Amino acid sequence: MGKEAKSEWNGFSLKPRKEMPEGLWMRCPGCEHMLYKSSVEKNLNVCPECNYHFRIEAETRIKYLADEDSFQEVLGDLTTSDPLDFRFRGISYKQRLKADEKKSGAKEAMRIGKAFIKGRGVMLGVMEPNFLMGSMGFVVGEKLCVAVDKAMEEKLPLVVVCCSGGARMHEGVVSLGQMAKTSAALGRFNEARGLYISVLTDPTTGGVTASFAMLGDCLIAEPGALIGFAGPRTIAETIKVELPEGFQTAEFMLEHGFVDMIVHRKDLRSEIARLIDYCQR
Ligand SMILES: [Zn+2]
Repeated sequence: MGKEAKSEWNGFSLKPRKEMPEGLWMRCPGCEHMLYKSSVEKNLNVCPECNYHFRIEAETRIKYLADEDSFQEVLGDLTTSDPLDFRFRGISYKQRLKADEKKSGAKEAMRIGKAFIKGRGVMLGVMEPNFLMGSMGFVVGEKLCVAVDKAMEEKLPLVVVCCSGGARMHEGVVSLGQMAKTSAALGRFNEARGLYISVLTDPTTGGVTASFAMLGDCLIAEPGALIGFAGPRTIAETIKVELPEGFQTAEFMLEHGFVDMIVHRKDLRSEIARLIDYCQR
């Protein structure tokens, strides 16, 4: 599958609009303005004209969110096996893993570690959209659970930045099992009175939405983020109704009570720090 190819995942079309193109200039998909790429990068990969939030890789997200050099990664080398010996459209899962590692520089679709956010210690999990579309297989589920365990042991708040195409079909039921596993771990964290802040970024979909993404004590969304379980086309075809305007955007979710707040990327650090202080008083 080519880098620019439009991909389908759970009925969502996930790839076409958000990635930063090569070159000095770029067109914003939100407002159609031609933008100088470095001015967008300086603005935390947000369009200075219309606030369109571009999708960003885990490395950049950690840089934006954590205090400088504070991220101490855990299980950075954990990789998946290929339990089903899976092939899809002539490409084996093992080949796809290698290709995405090369493309993204990441070993998996989630990174976890201890970090500080404005001086507050946290366990931080950040998803990597450029590795198999941030999909959840065994490694993502396992890392989420280890992050929960460490947060519990060290009495730290857990902050997870979600960005995912959903469960990873290449791992079949092993992948689906991660939904129950991560939900159970967060259930234990809740009983231990741990604070879990979930940040929903574009896109948060499928099995990730149906498990750990939506289980936060506080649900923060980035402006304009696509948040949903099944894609709009799948839903429309199944229930045979026309879907409302803005369906599955962060703003629609806020209006319908599914998220607690929408926070601009530039305010995310302060807002998380404020929530931690407020909840731990
Ligand atoms: Zn724009």
